[in-house]
Amino acid sequence: MGGQVSVPEGVHVVVVGGGFGGIAAAQQLKSAGVSFTLVDMRDAFHHNVAALRASVEPGFAQRTFIPYAETFGSSFVQGRVERVDPETQMVVLQGGREIQYSHLILCTGSDGPFPGKFNTEASLQNAVQTYEDFVQQIQVADSVLVVGGGGTGVEMAAEIKTEYPDKKVVLIHSRIGLADPQLVHSVRQQVKEVLLEKGVELVLGQKVSNLSELPLNVTQKDLEVKTDKGETLRTDLIISCTGIRINSAAYASSLAASMAEDGALKVNDHLQVQGFSNVYAVGDCADLQEPKLAYHAGLHASVAVGNILNSLSGKPLSTYSTGSVTMLLAMGRDDGVGQFNGFRLPRWMVALGKSRDLLLWKSWREMQQKQP
Ligand SMILES: Cc1cc2nc3c(=O)[nH]c(=O)nc-3n(C[C@H](O)[C@H](O)[C@H](O)COP(=O)(O)OP(=O)(O)OC[C@H]3O[C@@H](n4cnc5c(N)ncnc54)[C@H](O)[C@@H]3O)c2cc1C
Repeated sequence: MGGQVSVPEGVHVVVVGGGFGGIAAAQQLKSAGVSFTLVDMRDAFHHNVAALRASVEPGFAQRTFIPYAETFGSSFVQGRVERVDPETQMVVLQGGREIQYSHLILCTGSDGPFPGKFNTEASLQNAVQTYEDFVQQIQVADSVLVVGGGGTGVEMAAEIKTEYPDKKVVLIHSRIGLADPQLVHSVRQQVKEVLLEKGVELVLGQKVSNLSELPLNVTQKDLEVKTDKGETLRTDLIISCTGIRINSAAYASSLAASMAEDGALKVNDHLQVQGFSNVYAVGDCADLQEPKLAYHAGLHASVAVGNILNSLSGKPLSTYSTGSVTMLLAMGRDDGVGQFNGFRLPRWMVALGKSRDLLLWKSWREMQQKQP
């Protein structure tokens, strides 16, 4: 994006949500010298890509939360956005505070079950403690059932079995194929091979039928889990890895006409929200036909910020298009499976590139802070 640009008076960009998309957008606005406010309900960025390692390795969680204020100073405001008003160009926070914008970037992302996502408005210290407490729940369980064999579920099962090889780990998945359906077949096959090599037991093509009656994330001896095929499984700890939902609460009241069925915002090729030339959607809350990935959120942020700058200087807007799928799955710290631009990568390469550190270095560098 280059250096500082000349910005007309009155330009103030509000970025709602400080996930992967939000911090990339804020950092690029900061480098370009554009006035901005980043709003998030918490005080620290959560690198949720590493959340599963933080669930098994004591002391790891503190590396997965990065305080916003140290990077963005007074350009960061902590608060929950309750609504946006496109008429008056205002973002309204819980408690009534209003922030005026000339341009708005919505990056409210998605939520899902803990530990893959952390949805609570907790302080950094409390968030870290929540993961440390969860590590202890895993440590005292002799057996763990992971529900859901998408990307998060397979990584969770692999993390537990790698850190605690003596525990019985069962992964139950409603379909036969594991991981993301947009991955090439051979990568999905390899996911299965790695899990079996590690000793994870697979129950495929079955659903848990009594999940709502069972405690999640708390160790209790001999929980009785029933499946829709009539089987009964016994386990000490159940971890749910299904059910990602778009976080639409910030904009649902005023942008309902621009929302897809799942709550994501319909965008054009420039990532402008349908019907608004000064409102952009970035990351998981953008309705794009591609896997929901932190990697994509970063690409979207560059396009959205670039287009705000282009629109200010009268240049044509750039377009975003989805490339072939690139996705890396950490199968514990010592193994990995994935593809780059549609081509399967060797396991050692994924292990080296992603699994060892889960790309934490990248976010700490982006936030210009030293990793603890
Ligand atoms: C376990 C797991 C592993 C993953 N691994 C990978 C991986 O290896 N590679 C990859 O590319 N992707 C991975 N993903 C997907 C990736 O995490 C998401 O695609 C990414 O987090 C999306 O970024 P985002 O900025 O759109 O939103 P999010 O990261 O969801 O962040 C949204 C932010 O908005 C804030 N927010 C929401 N609503 C409001 C509101 N009303 N007011 C104020 N703040 C609000 C939230 O507090 C949050 O900080 C993984 C996901 C999971 C769950």
